Amino acid sequence: MNPALIILKPDREKPLLRRHPWVFSGAIAEVQGEPASGATVDVYAADKTFLAQAAYSPESQIRGRVWNWSPDEAVDADFLARRLARTIAARTAYEADSNALRLVNAESDGLPGLVVDRYADTLVCQFLSAGAEFWRETIVEQLAEITGCKTVYERSDVEVRSLEGLEAREGALRGAAPEGTVQIVEDEMQFKVDVVEGHKTGFYLDQRRNRLRVRELAEGREVLDCFSYTGGFAANALQGGAAAVTLVESSADALALARENLALNDFPADRAELLEADVFGALRGFRDQARAFDLIILDPPKFAPTRAHAEKAARAYKDINLLAFKLLAPGGLLVTFSCSAGVGPDLFQKIVAGAALDAEVDARILEQLAQAPDHPIALNFPEAAYLKGLICEAS
Ligand code: SAH
Repeated sequence: MNPALIILKPDREKPLLRRHPWVFSGAIAEVQGEPASGATVDVYAADKTFLAQAAYSPESQIRGRVWNWSPDEAVDADFLARRLARTIAARTAYEADSNALRLVNAESDGLPGLVVDRYADTLVCQFLSAGAEFWRETIVEQLAEITGCKTVYERSDVEVRSLEGLEAREGALRGAAPEGTVQIVEDEMQFKVDVVEGHKTGFYLDQRRNRLRVRELAEGREVLDCFSYTGGFAANALQGGAAAVTLVESSADALALARENLALNDFPADRAELLEADVFGALRGFRDQARAFDLIILDPPKFAPTRAHAEKAARAYKDINLLAFKLLAPGGLLVTFSCSAGVGPDLFQKIVAGAALDAEVDARILEQLAQAPDHPIALNFPEAAYLKGLICEAS
């Protein structure tokens, strides 16, 4: 029993009965007990049936995020310790060939708003909800104890915190902030990761399996890696025997790190061309030069964070995919992604199909790709599935 509680409006309990972990403000009839931001509240249906214990977030449309479905298991430091230990223990299955992985994937691991990535001996955390923020110190203490990592760094410098009434924040929580980059091993390759200045927590861990897939498909091919960031796909293509790789990336810092990563893995500089450029313009430039590639990767940033942006995003996806299809040599492969929550897999496939049609390229889907398994998707929380990809082969 918690001192504060939420009572839902009549007939608004169904999502919670299906164990969807969010309580929307519009479903709430009454809040009793003046809970503080992030405090645990009991959630009841209108008929006073107990539903869940949730973290209260007074400023968010997502007013509650469920910790558990039982009234008996108190949400306290021990509860968090048990849940963190269980989650992290389950990740060891993915540790065999990498010392970089996502240890905690928020709602899908029963830890709403908490993201923890491990890069060798450095942990990087994001506290994205009022509940995760409330338990921040406890969580950091437990993480340090469970993993033995001496450095815990916070990268809560993300937009979504403002929806929770929280300020962006970053900095060392344990140990000193890493100086320079942290070096990781991923599937026998080395990468330098900038956890302080890099995107997200430093590296796109969600693409690990897809990088490996590109490695397997790259032999002898001329590869174009668009939106290359620090060179993950390009390096894997070279590892797989690509004839040459061209990287296109608008961030000079990311590209500089990509160059270091290629050198770190002993690839000769003459097999890689690094272009600091806008992909939309670069693809048009290649078209005008009549260049062709055997394998093209398109891994753009989130064009549609929500469904409201879907239409504009669809045009951007169509544009780059159309241009990429035009640059593909016969028998070439297009590995194309969307990480937009606002563009679902069906819509994405339609956009790519439309792009092939307009490019007058006959193509088929060889494989459908998704996020790596250390980014699990709880069955009751389909929102966690954001990354979709297609491997298309041109005839
Ligand atoms: N494929 C990468 C991740 C790509 S993230 C990996 O596996 O590590 C998207 C990248 O696109 C970011 O590095 C961002 O700087 C870059 N970017 C965003 N808009 C761009 C544009 N219009 N042209 C070129 N690069 C862009």
